[in-house]
Amino acid sequence: MKIIIVGGVAGGMSAATRLRRLDETAEIIVFERGHYVSFANCGLPYFVGGVISDRGDLLLQTPQSLGARFALDVRVDTEVVQIDRVAQTVTVRDLLTDVESVEYYDRLVLAAGASARAGAVSDATIPTHTLRTVDDVDHITAVLAGAGAVSAVVIGGGFIGLEAVENLVHRGVHVTLVQRGPQIFTPLDPEMAAPVLDRVRERGVDVRLNTIVTGHSGDSVTLSDGTTVSADLVIDASGVRPDVTLAEQAGLRIGESGGVWVDGTQATSDPLIFAVGDGVEKTDAVTGSGTLVTMAGLANRHGRSVADSIAGTAEHAAPALGTGILGIFGLTVALVGWNETRLLASARAHRIAHTHPANHAGYFPGAEGMSMKLLIDADTDAILGAQIVGGAGVDKRIDVIAVAMAAGLGASALTRLELAYAPQYASAKDPINQLGYVADNLARGTSVNLQWHELEAARAAGSVLIDVRSAGEFAAGSIPGALNVSLDDLRARLNDLPRVPLIVHCQVGQRGHTAARILAQNGFDVKNLDGGYRTWLAGTSSLVVSPIAERVLA
Ligand SMILES: Cc1cc2nc3c(=O)[nH]c(=O)nc-3n(C[C@H](O)[C@H](O)[C@H](O)COP(=O)(O)OP(=O)(O)OC[C@H]3O[C@@H](n4cnc5c(N)ncnc54)[C@H](O)[C@@H]3O)c2cc1C
Repeated sequence: MKIIIVGGVAGGMSAATRLRRLDETAEIIVFERGHYVSFANCGLPYFVGGVISDRGDLLLQTPQSLGARFALDVRVDTEVVQIDRVAQTVTVRDLLTDVESVEYYDRLVLAAGASARAGAVSDATIPTHTLRTVDDVDHITAVLAGAGAVSAVVIGGGFIGLEAVENLVHRGVHVTLVQRGPQIFTPLDPEMAAPVLDRVRERGVDVRLNTIVTGHSGDSVTLSDGTTVSADLVIDASGVRPDVTLAEQAGLRIGESGGVWVDGTQATSDPLIFAVGDGVEKTDAVTGSGTLVTMAGLANRHGRSVADSIAGTAEHAAPALGTGILGIFGLTVALVGWNETRLLASARAHRIAHTHPANHAGYFPGAEGMSMKLLIDADTDAILGAQIVGGAGVDKRIDVIAVAMAAGLGASALTRLELAYAPQYASAKDPINQLGYVADNLARGTSVNLQWHELEAARAAGSVLIDVRSAGEFAAGSIPGALNVSLDDLRARLNDLPRVPLIVHCQVGQRGHTAARILAQNGFDVKNLDGGYRTWLAGTSSLVVSPIAERVLA
């Protein structure tokens, strides 16, 4: 059996090494057009920032080490330029000599990854750098090391853009972040992204929303808002698209999402050709439809499973949840599944729970806060997605929710998870359990909530807003027009309240829930403002720019 693999990084090399472990006799050739294989692309931004100081730490393997341990024939600087499916051959070009040759395959694995999306700048002559390969970071660090390189423009506030921003600031570079749309980090909903924007601006980054780069002159660029900013370096992190060049040319089926279509065993529409990684369409865990998720975990997982498929022990791939995490200036941002923006756009009935717990018992020194958001299917109680932004403990909670989703647990079942607790690690009611309590109350109808962006419409329709925080909290900042009746005074003041639909709120939603229970049991029609004043404040801070807000205001 002769197996050819195109692409020698995450998906391709996982496939190659697993194949070798499963079959000692197969001939396995890996073609990589770059000069390096199996390098740590996720570490590249941190080398730019100097956090990873030794360039050699990025280079996890060499063709020689892979040959010695796994008997792989790894050929770098070699591009696969054509597939002949009838002859079962690939044409490869040695990029150092330009000499082409032809190789036969019994099975072919495409692990070509993704490439930078075009169109980040309105003028294609503007010199930009991508941040995707070792060569890219060599170029970037060479510019930064050059005399007087002190300013940079980063285009795109997604995962890689924000990592680039953080690392450039870490190096002492002044950064302008240019974002085409109205919000940075669009996997989050606007009220969850607001603290991320605040943190980035607090660290001195000049963030330009609704802006693109339109021109350049010397060491500055012009922006669509009419301003000019200095830029010794422009990094294009505006996004990627699946690299389907070879697959398309070979006539393989391309999915609606734009990635190579594969079945559950990673086989393409040609049963002798398999595909994995960023170039491939995944199955969305929420809808079962085709989707793109460009994450290392999936590339590695599918690389491993394609080897099993070729070795004859195929196992169907689990759908993709889209779990991701980002560290930005001390803030941890994590997400899984769908967000509210997407649920609203697809008109899928859902419930939402926002909470703002501490990562561990508040009485134990060093507790750090986090904001959590859970998206729940209104009909089945299935967890559709989650977002968490905060300090310590965010990573563990998003992974618990990802596991719950993969296991098919409903949102209310989060109440029943028995999670490790000691005061320095968690609370006896873990933030995950607390999120479950809110979800469970919503599912049972014990609580009815209202989102921050639904408030104005409800008030316009006659609802009255009651702030149940203390007078001191109310004085320190409140929602305009709210009445202040503290929770502890509420029972005594029931007769003062108008008999109209009421909306109650506190700081984070918990006292609001107690107030809503008191009012509901006294015959009031009442809703709790989800996530309280804190979520409302974050949401309305994004009001002028957020897609949800635009819909609300329309
Ligand atoms: C800067 C950066 C940071 C990232 N950070 C994270 C992170 O923190 N967490 C996370 O989950 N994901 C992260 N990712 C994404 C992750 O790296 C990718 O999801 C993963 O590498 C995809 O694996 P792949 O095998 O599909 O593609 P790649 O790893 O990109 O490998 C594809 C390879 O195929 C080669 N190739 C393409 N066409 C040909 C051809 N015709 N002939 C020969 N070779 C070819 C390319 O040169 C490339 O080396 C990051 C990506 C980048 C760039």
